[in-house]
Amino acid sequence: MDLAQQTAERRPARRVRGTGARHEPRRADCPWCGSPRLRVRLRTGDLIQRKPGSFTLERCADCAHTFQNPRLGAEGLDFYRLGSDDRQDLGHRDFWRRDLCHGLGGAAALLARAGAGRSRHLSGVRALSRFDEPESWLDVGTGRARFPAAAKEVLPYTAFDGLDSDPGLAEGVRRGRVEEAHHGRLTELARHLAGRYDALSMVHYLQRRPDPRAELRAAATVLRPGGHLLIEAPDPESRSARLLGKWWASYRQPRHLHFVPLANLCRELDELGFTVVDVDRRAPHVPADLGTACALLLNRVLPEADVPWRSKPPSRARLGLRRAASWASAPLLALAYAADVLLAPLLTRTGFANAYRVIARKEPEA
Ligand SMILES: [Zn+2]
Repeated sequence: MDLAQQTAERRPARRVRGTGARHEPRRADCPWCGSPRLRVRLRTGDLIQRKPGSFTLERCADCAHTFQNPRLGAEGLDFYRLGSDDRQDLGHRDFWRRDLCHGLGGAAALLARAGAGRSRHLSGVRALSRFDEPESWLDVGTGRARFPAAAKEVLPYTAFDGLDSDPGLAEGVRRGRVEEAHHGRLTELARHLAGRYDALSMVHYLQRRPDPRAELRAAATVLRPGGHLLIEAPDPESRSARLLGKWWASYRQPRHLHFVPLANLCRELDELGFTVVDVDRRAPHVPADLGTACALLLNRVLPEADVPWRSKPPSRARLGLRRAASWASAPLLALAYAADVLLAPLLTRTGFANAYRVIARKEPEA
């Protein structure tokens, strides 16, 4: 029995669910500055999992904030979480096994996740350690705590804690990557953790949260006076975003809700009583834009994989065609990824870097 048959047998009845109920009402104004001058930046679907639904990113003509509008609510975000159906129906490992065998969605997701790379983590920690040698550090949105695991190499005497509502945090604890785990949302736990940390990191986290400003306020609460905040996030002003459009990995619809321009973030931090001590638009670049765009494009044009949210299973012939074409495209993906890596020094000097880093100090009088 092949993998497709096994998963089909273990899967409950197929269902295709509409996404209208998962969206909140559309906003008529910018969530950052309140301006009503909104312009559609792009419309797209779920390019990684190819779940049903369409999503719109709008850009404020006054402050350049870009956001998903209408936005997905909590139920919608859960529906589009990677492998969410499969965690219930098949088990997480089966999702990746099947998706990687049958398609390119998994490859695109993995390339897009390359932002979690160890060398980029180390670069961020080194950047912050130039200003402070924190005794206590909280990594927010830590997942399986890969960031603290890498950070310990640079700061072996710092106590790293992790905060996340993701069940993956348990693995981070089990592997000894964090000393203390806080399960939940920063905005809900901030008062409980007030003034407790010397450093706080949000690495590719703000764009996933429904209210980035509330997260920044919570970070200010949790940091002690003089403590440092490290933020890395996609740069919506990157030339790659304009060039690649919906195939730009960092758009990652529908999971990413907000794209905060660097100037807006720095202004907000200033108003919250921070002093921005370092800004970097080159080192946090994730060299995976071309590889991911190729994988997403192929994932779009090849016959669809056998996924639970399809109304009808694809024929054996179409599945075979998809599998063969996926393997045949591997050299192309490898070439695109190699170009990403080789061109990175040039791209980051010419406005094509896809992420920025900000380090800010919470002033004692804040
Ligand atoms: Zn605005």
